[in-house]
Amino acid sequence: MSSILEVKGLSFKYDRQRVLEDISFEVTEGDYVGIIGSNGSGKTTLIKILLGLIPSYEGQIKYGKDILKDNSIGYVPQHGAAIDKLFPATAGEIVATGLLSKKGRLKFYSKEDYKKVDTVLKRLKIENLKNKRIGNLSGGQRQRVLLARAMIADPKVLILDEPTSALDPEIREEFYKLLKELNDEGVTIILVSHDIVSIEKYINKILYLDKRLVFYGGYDEFRHSKEMARYFGLLT
Ligand code: ADP
Repeated sequence: MSSILEVKGLSFKYDRQRVLEDISFEVTEGDYVGIIGSNGSGKTTLIKILLGLIPSYEGQIKYGKDILKDNSIGYVPQHGAAIDKLFPATAGEIVATGLLSKKGRLKFYSKEDYKKVDTVLKRLKIENLKNKRIGNLSGGQRQRVLLARAMIADPKVLILDEPTSALDPEIREEFYKLLKELNDEGVTIILVSHDIVSIEKYINKILYLDKRLVFYGGYDEFRHSKEMARYFGLLT
């Protein structure tokens, strides 16, 4: 399996506060990585750096060649974060904006673009939402629209930040299942979550962060580790 992302000796501080300390890990094609850690442990900062939103870090971040060439990273923000409820757009229109980053200066949609919207809505089983106003959708529906918006550009890697924090458990479970389907189709997934119990069925690797890297490796190995005990506050 080829390497999708290699991080070496990554450190970062906001002003004087050190937030990430010497983080190294590698993600390979097809991985489904869960990032866990308590509030303030640096998860969001790490994701922002991986997305290129914070340039001033120390260390190295290397994406696989195809990933950078095709601008092939999809991002799903925290629940609802990107959408103003009063924004007068339909779900279909929001999904189409996911194509804009791949266009040049002329930002017009083509017939093929509209076809892509239909295809991705179908793939995520939300064709029925296409003409609905985004503000009228439930939390779970809105989250799927944001996922469709990320998927329409056909990314090889999908990065998600606490995508289900405001959803009720059944809807959350469905969302995680959907992510697993995408992963089975070959999309590499990096998912920040508060809720290790609901993602453990799906992930193959875990990255446990507490400013430094407490654990990185296979989930099965994690289950039997002292770090797992620490995570659940069961230190013996
Ligand atoms: P997590 O996502 O794990 O909750 P964050 O990456 O959001 O952690 O935050 C890590 C630490 O960095 C926290 O102590 C937080 O207060 C601090 N922090 C986050 N964003 C900023 C910022 N823009 N400026 C200064 N400090 C920040």
